[in-house]
Amino acid sequence: MNPIKYRGRLAPSPTGFLHLGHAKTFWVAQQRARAAGGELILRNEDLDAARCQPEFVAAMIEDLRWFGFKWSEGPDSGGPFAPYNQSERFSFYRTALEKLRAGNFIYPCSCSRKDIQQSASAPHAGDDELIYPGTCRERGYKLSVESCKLGVRENELAASNQQPATKISWRFRVPDGETISFGDKNFGEQRFVAGKDFGDFVVWRPDDVPAYQLACMVDDAAMQITEVVRGADLLVSTARQILLYRALGLMPPDFYHCALILDESGQRLAKRHDALSLRQLRAAGKTPDFLRENK
Ligand code: GLU
Repeated sequence: MNPIKYRGRLAPSPTGFLHLGHAKTFWVAQQRARAAGGELILRNEDLDAARCQPEFVAAMIEDLRWFGFKWSEGPDSGGPFAPYNQSERFSFYRTALEKLRAGNFIYPCSCSRKDIQQSASAPHAGDDELIYPGTCRERGYKLSVESCKLGVRENELAASNQQPATKISWRFRVPDGETISFGDKNFGEQRFVAGKDFGDFVVWRPDDVPAYQLACMVDDAAMQITEVVRGADLLVSTARQILLYRALGLMPPDFYHCALILDESGQRLAKRHDALSLRQLRAAGKTPDFLRENK
């Protein structure tokens, strides 16, 4: 018997209305929490200010309730690990960033690349981070997290005799060639090779926003989540996050990845955002019972 009580989480991002693809994965999370007699937590992953909107948060909570979700801790109900909005948890992420820097696990990067802009959101199929060529890896900038807090400008760097940069992001230096393996509770043994299947990834953006990989992992640890249920398109992200747990001296939770749900034509449900938003399905007269059983 595992003496630790199961704690699962729903971690939606309010970048639009929830769609059936999310709900199906979340439903697995709720079923697993129930089967284990555990708790389910709702965390609002609203880091990407450009894409997350307050009206989507209210809609998200309403849609989740309508579908039949029940959580014991969350932004609406509070709980022992509050706040449950990521936008209010920056101090946790900063502390983790400082630990990673002190342990020399990360380095500042002045490259401006698409993956940096996208890194506040979870990389779902087709938009995963490219393998970083390592341009800034060996540059040896000696900057404190504090000096990069609000981004570092060229003249400040020039004054401190460092290489000029515009604004700085922070990347995690992956152990090239090492196989990161974990036993997925659904798919079994998973293996990803650092430097080949994924490269040095962004943990902090130049606009002073933590990346999804860091924020998600820091919160799962801080909220004492025992099992993360998420879509199979995040398998590689799980490997990245396992490296972060290790660097921070923390035990990773268990992972259960759900197969991506495809429609009749083989397209990912998540791609057909509008037609399959819970709102529209509800307006079209579909019931939660029906939606849980059918595509
Ligand atoms: N907020 C992320 C998403 O909606 C969470 C992914 C995860 O479960 O880690 O994609």
